[in-house]
Amino acid sequence: MPPISLLCNVLRSQAPNEPNTLTIPSVGRVSWEEIFHKHCHRPASDLLWLATWDRLPVGQPVANIAPDNTQCPWCPSIKHNTLHLFHQCHIAQSIWDTAHMIYTEGTHSLPPPQIPDSSLSECQLRLIRSIQSAVLTTLWNAFTSRAFGHDPTPTHHDIADQFLGRLLHLCTLDIHLDPLTPWIKPTKILSLIIIAKNRYTPPSP
Ligand SMILES: [Zn+2]
Repeated sequence: MPPISLLCNVLRSQAPNEPNTLTIPSVGRVSWEEIFHKHCHRPASDLLWLATWDRLPVGQPVANIAPDNTQCPWCPSIKHNTLHLFHQCHIAQSIWDTAHMIYTEGTHSLPPPQIPDSSLSECQLRLIRSIQSAVLTTLWNAFTSRAFGHDPTPTHHDIADQFLGRLLHLCTLDIHLDPLTPWIKPTKILSLIIIAKNRYTPPSP
């Protein structure tokens, strides 16, 4: 993870009827422009919109529904919240690490900076926002399948496979929209997912 992971914070506005200022370190400051940017895929936009209003059903509000009560499904000792789900959890960290590998391979550059970054091309920004969208929706679906579907807690292996499916889907869409979007080839995406699966080690209990 880049050093920005040290900056994790959720800043809450005191003004009533105003959205919170949300920062997810691997996404950056979640502004309205970013949430509704044309590169951001709609399911991810919806998640970010709810997150900025602190309205994602996670933690205490779903304690009576979720099998894990208020706790993270993958971290039984940790109370769940939006920042944990999308950034602090070891599952999230692994998926973001994989996302960074895919971006770096595609652009031959360092892991993605926070956006918007005016030094990046439109193609690079499209790639970043697509990969971010894939991460956010993958993590959210993994959580909801457990919390609301009452499925067994998805394994890292399962989640990595879901992530792969979303990446391949968004890659196809983006290349159709702009062939210069620097996605790596699907076979290379697959090989990075396999590397991520092999690298992953769950934290000791
Ligand atoms: Zn966790």
